[in-house]
Amino acid sequence: MAVGSGLQLKSPREIDTMARGGAILAATHAFVKTHVQPGVSTGELDRLAEQFIRDHAGAEPAFKGLYGFPGAVCISVNEEIVHGIPSNKRILNSGDIVSVDIGVKFEGMFTDAAITHPVGVIDEVTQRLLEVTERSLAAGIAAATTDNHVGDIGAAIQAVVETAGFSIVRELVGHGVGFAPHEEIQIPNYGKAKRGKKLVAGLTIAIEPMVNVGTAKTRTLGDKWTVVTLDGKRSAHFEHTIAVTDAGPRVLTVV
Ligand code: MG
Repeated sequence: MAVGSGLQLKSPREIDTMARGGAILAATHAFVKTHVQPGVSTGELDRLAEQFIRDHAGAEPAFKGLYGFPGAVCISVNEEIVHGIPSNKRILNSGDIVSVDIGVKFEGMFTDAAITHPVGVIDEVTQRLLEVTERSLAAGIAAATTDNHVGDIGAAIQAVVETAGFSIVRELVGHGVGFAPHEEIQIPNYGKAKRGKKLVAGLTIAIEPMVNVGTAKTRTLGDKWTVVTLDGKRSAHFEHTIAVTDAGPRVLTVV
């Protein structure tokens, strides 16, 4: 493991291992998506995701038991931003949105990615929320180049989100990932260009905008896990694990 200026840099070989795990993760998302429909429980989606991951030799769900989390993956509905606990009692209805956040450990390396799915038919504002959040992630990824700093990623995300009239969650941020599910470096979804740590080749990070229709403020439910919007309005979450390389950002959580 190469450690430079506090960053846990990965070798090309380690990045390739992450990409293999990330491909399993992406396939898991695609599989879960085919089961997102009115009437399904978040507990059922959790079981499907866990089995799918474990069907791949060398892969396991990284979040199961992490800091004591009870599910295999995090599933958050509507005003829930992140860290929702899957439950057989939580049934999805048409018009809901469901954020699925998956971590995979594969051959000792970790990747992390999230998608927010529509359930059945969703309203126009919610549709726009999903589109803007996904587009903000793409903008953040595009800014993850070796001539930029951490602040450039956040600035790119923030510009997309605030131009669209939505708000960026500030109390939760992206993070380093690879040797561990969460590494030290933080990747805020807001910021100023050319500020913060310089991005260097070998850095692997999870970029994960959490975007709210209303207030950016959050609170945590009594289950000590589920983070929701303070005003009860909806939130979306898209995330990829990427590697910063001399050839540009490489998305690792794709098939
Ligand atoms: Mg995640």
